[in-house]
Amino acid sequence: DHRKPTIHLAAISIPAFSHQASILQFSKRLVQLHPYLHVTCIFPTIDAPPEPTIDFLQSLSSSSIHCIFLPPIAKHDLVDHHGNATPPAVQIQLAVSRSLPSLRDALKSLCISSPLAALITDPWANEVLEVAKELHLLSFVYFPLSAMTLSLFLNLPRLDREISGEYRDLKDPIEIIPGCSTIPINGLDLPEHLQDRTSLSYELILQRCKRCSLADGFLVNTIFEMEQSTITSLQNVFPIGPIVQSGSSSSGTGSGCVEWLEKQTPRSVLYVSFGSGGTLSEEQLNELAFGLELCGQKFLWVVRKPSESANSAYLGDGEQDSLQFLPSEFLERTKERGLVVSSWAPQNEILRHSSTGGFLTHCGWNSILESIVCGVPMMTWPLFAEQKMNAVLLTEGLKVALRLKANERGIVEKEEISKVVRSLMEETEEGDGIRRRIGELKRDAASALKQDGSSTKALSQVVDQIVTLWRQRQSN
Ligand code: UDP
Repeated sequence: DHRKPTIHLAAISIPAFSHQASILQFSKRLVQLHPYLHVTCIFPTIDAPPEPTIDFLQSLSSSSIHCIFLPPIAKHDLVDHHGNATPPAVQIQLAVSRSLPSLRDALKSLCISSPLAALITDPWANEVLEVAKELHLLSFVYFPLSAMTLSLFLNLPRLDREISGEYRDLKDPIEIIPGCSTIPINGLDLPEHLQDRTSLSYELILQRCKRCSLADGFLVNTIFEMEQSTITSLQNVFPIGPIVQSGSSSSGTGSGCVEWLEKQTPRSVLYVSFGSGGTLSEEQLNELAFGLELCGQKFLWVVRKPSESANSAYLGDGEQDSLQFLPSEFLERTKERGLVVSSWAPQNEILRHSSTGGFLTHCGWNSILESIVCGVPMMTWPLFAEQKMNAVLLTEGLKVALRLKANERGIVEKEEISKVVRSLMEETEEGDGIRRRIGELKRDAASALKQDGSSTKALSQVVDQIVTLWRQRQSN
């Protein structure tokens, strides 16, 4: 393989850490398995590249992967038709659209130095599929979310035609894939950007979903054995996961977590985190603090400054001392049992640690895969995007997580938190069942990545397709 001439690919993502880290990690696996490939990752930027991405790039160290950050788009320019501020999901899509001229330039200059064989794009940046057609290149979507979410993406144009009114008003679960008995998803479980069909965010998403038909295939960060029925009911879908961050974080924040875990007993600690930017309201933050206090279990909690909007920190919130927002004397009262860190923690190292026995998660897809790879059972606390669907998959489909119920005002109360934490962490029948099933999934995840595993094979199929077409072109 080393003697084959290098084949160049470009991978385009969006200005959001978790998507960038995922496509970089995927590129790493690609060039490790197929050493004659070279990947240039191109990232549109809002204001400045995310700091965790810069840290991550430093830890990646591969001479076969290069990264280009496109000239930044100013966040305050990412407004709607009326000049009003827009939610993060819209900002991301507007930033991608406005970066298209510089993206085209970057691709063209890449092609001059060494012709590209294929483009790979994040689903939220899929204008790239049109560029690929212009340049006569193969194109793939790297889908850093579940196959279930991909099925929604691919079927939204049909649902949009067939269903009138808002999805949340539907009485029955939505049949996302016709004739496929996947887990029942209610209209209310759909992402918030689909909840108002007159909104700009709905319009933008629908355009993106329609454009998916231009792709030659979908590389999905999932495991065949985990989402078999969904995957087999879709076409040109290649399950290539789980792609999760390897290596340790180089960032200084959150250090001390591993040292603290070292002092705890096996499986005794509940890890609590809401991803790279999830936030709780002040009332909810307090309730969670009291719930953790009440449950009597050990915990490691990444606290972020409260906000009324659950994804307000998604595009960065700067350095914050979040601990001042905790109930008074909380830290003092729980110091024997809990470690609280502000804003960011080395999540993969925490999940890999033998002292970690549970994960209270916002159900971001990367967090879920990381938990599965480490065999850590979960509690679901979905906040935004497709996280409610992910929570349904975990609790009702795979049965590897317990669900936290909110009251009629949408608040998860301390008694509920305490009860569910104890059912998960203590030796209950429910907890044991979940531990057994997540152990099985952990084994599936490891097998899928072995040399003859389902994900390795699926990736090779895609690479073969790219290489064959490339050779044909070169010999013409
Ligand atoms: N992450 C981390 N430390 C934190 C919070 C998040 O390392 O304190 C990483 C986490 O390991 C995961 C990513 O950030 O890889 C979050 O991705 P996910 O899809 O779970 O959620 P999102 O950030 O997109 O909401």
